[in-house]
Amino acid sequence: MEITLVQGDITEQQVDAVVNAANSSLMGGGGVDGAIHRRGGPEILEECRKLRASQYGKGLPTGQAVATTAGRLPARWVIHTVGPVHSRSEGRSELLASCYRESLRVADELGARSVAFPAISTGVYGWPMDDAARIALEAVRQADTRVEDLRFVLFDAAAYAVFEARL
Ligand code: ADP
Repeated sequence: MEITLVQGDITEQQVDAVVNAANSSLMGGGGVDGAIHRRGGPEILEECRKLRASQYGKGLPTGQAVATTAGRLPARWVIHTVGPVHSRSEGRSELLASCYRESLRVADELGARSVAFPAISTGVYGWPMDDAARIALEAVRQADTRVEDLRFVLFDAAAYAVFEARL
């Protein structure tokens, strides 16, 4: 597996699967989530609603992942995962690592070979970028996956620099 870093907007990535830093409601939100739904169109939310109704009545648990269509994005699937909120004391690092592992497990189920990740939990959920980068890189390096092209798409130069230093 090749790990690359990209500075930019995750909704522009031409990959098999884009990972969304969703919230457990799966009903959309700000940050990456807002950008994905805006750019991908209503089809994504429609599938999220169905998932809520069929499998995740109480919401998608933190650290888990589930796939939908990517709608109009230049990708085939969106893999939604729920990162932990940094300030909550709930075995947090393990849950953040789980987001990456579970997203890759879902990617393998789909047959995705290229996957783009945002820096999960580092926005509204308040995780310090350096610690998040350490956990993310460790989790994907340890993962047993058939994904060949794994990209971290960092929104700004500061986040990119932090990931670059860690890589
Ligand atoms: P969380 O709720 O998991 O913290 P956010 O979406 O608030 O998720 O933020 C996660 C990270 O994604 C932040 O570092 C934020 O700057 C970044 N981000 C926001 N929009 C985009 C985008 N369009 N593409 C890539 N990264 C983005």
